[in-house]
Amino acid sequence: MKILVINCGSSSLKFQLIDSDSEECLAKGLCERIGIDGSMITYAPKSGDKEKTETPMPDHTEAIRLVLDALTNPKTGVVKNLDEIGAVGHRVVHGGEKFAESVLITDDVIKIIEECNDLAPLHNPANLIGINACRKLMPNTPMVAVFDTAFHQTMPEEAYMYGLPYEYYKKYKIRRYGFHGTSHSYVSKRAAEVLGKKYEDLKIIVCHLGNGASISAVKNGKCVDTSMGLTPLQGLIMGTRSGDIDPAIIEFIAHKENKSIDEIMNVLNKKSGVLGLSDNLSSDFRDLEAGYNNGDENAIRAMKTYCYNVAKYVGAYVAAMNGVDVICFTAGVGENGPMVRNMICEHLGYLGIKLDQELNNKRGEDIAITTPDSKTTVMVIPTNEELAIARETCRLVK
Ligand code: ADP
Repeated sequence: MKILVINCGSSSLKFQLIDSDSEECLAKGLCERIGIDGSMITYAPKSGDKEKTETPMPDHTEAIRLVLDALTNPKTGVVKNLDEIGAVGHRVVHGGEKFAESVLITDDVIKIIEECNDLAPLHNPANLIGINACRKLMPNTPMVAVFDTAFHQTMPEEAYMYGLPYEYYKKYKIRRYGFHGTSHSYVSKRAAEVLGKKYEDLKIIVCHLGNGASISAVKNGKCVDTSMGLTPLQGLIMGTRSGDIDPAIIEFIAHKENKSIDEIMNVLNKKSGVLGLSDNLSSDFRDLEAGYNNGDENAIRAMKTYCYNVAKYVGAYVAAMNGVDVICFTAGVGENGPMVRNMICEHLGYLGIKLDQELNNKRGEDIAITTPDSKTTVMVIPTNEELAIARETCRLVK
C-alpha cells in the first residue's frame, strides 16, 4: 500500500509517500510559507531531480492540493491517480492523556484532538488544519493520527507528576507528557532488532539530539521516563530552547529587563540553549564543533555544558531503570556528531563504556559504536519518524 505521511505546521507542511511493502520513500517534499507571500513547494521523487516552485498557497488546502498534483503529475509524479494512495498518516503533536496509541481519524477523534489544543496551542491547531484539508480533498481515503506524546503514556505516575498543587493536574491536566515519542519508539525497537535481542528484555536510553532534544528511558519495551514535559521546553539544553532552569529565573528576568511573560517565553524558546550559551555564536553543532576545535571560548562553554547535561540525564535514567543495557544516539546531532557522542560518553566511564573510535566516525548506519568488551552498548540509530508513521498507518488501516 502507498501511504502519504503528512507533518503539518502553522506555515509549512512536510510530506513523504512511502510504499509500505518495500518501506521505500517514493517521493518527498516540503511546502513553505503557506499563507505568506513567496510560498514555495519543493518536490523530490525517488528517481528524478528535486524541483522547487514558487506558487501562491493561501491556505493548507491549496498546499495539499499542490502536493497531490505533484505526486500525480504525468511526467514527474510517482502515482497515476489518487486512488493509488491507500491511506494518509498525520503527525499530531499532542494527544494529552486521551491517546496512548495511534488512531483511525473520525469526527469524534478530531473533537478529542481539538480538546488537546490548549496543551499545544502552536502545534495541534496546525496539525488539525492539515487533517481537515486532506479529508476535504481525499474524502474516501482512511487517515490515521500518530501522536508525539503517545509512546510516553506508559510512564508511571511518579515520573509524570510535578511537585505542584494536585488541583492543577485535576483541573488542567498539568503533568509531564514528553514528545518525539515516534522517534523514541522507533529507535529503541530498532536497537533491539539490530542487536538480535528481545525488546522486552532490555533497558534502553534513547538520546534524541536534534534541534529539539529529548531523552527517554525504555524499560522492557515501555517508556518509563522522558525529559520533555508539559511542553517541549523542559529537559535537555537544545539548539535554542533552555531546557531545565530554576523557575524563579522567570520572575527575576521579568523585573530586571522589564519583560512580559510572553517575551520571556520567547527568550526561553528561541534565544536560549546552545545559541544563548555560546553568546549567539550558533545553534548549529557544525559551527559549535568548528569553534570548539579553534579554541573559541563561547563554543567550548556551549559544547561542554550541553554534553554534561545529557550525561546527567543518562545518569538519572540509569537510576530510574536500576541499570542500562543500551544507550542510543539519534537525530541531527546524535547521528552526525561523533565529537558530541565522545564528550557525553567521557562522563559515563562508570558504566564501563568503551567507544570504538573508528565505528564512532561512521555515518548513516544502524550500528553499535562500542568495543565488544564495553559493559554498556552505545549505538547510533538514524531515526525515521516518517517510516514509523507509515507503519502505524498501515497497521491500523489493514
Ligand atoms: P529537528 O528535526 O529538531 O529540526 P534535526 O534532527 O534535523 O532537528 O537536527 C538538526 C541539527 O543537527 C542541526 O541544527 C545541527 O546542530 C545538527 N547537525 C546536522 N548535521 C550535523 C553534522 N554533520 N555534524 C554535527 N551536527 C549536525
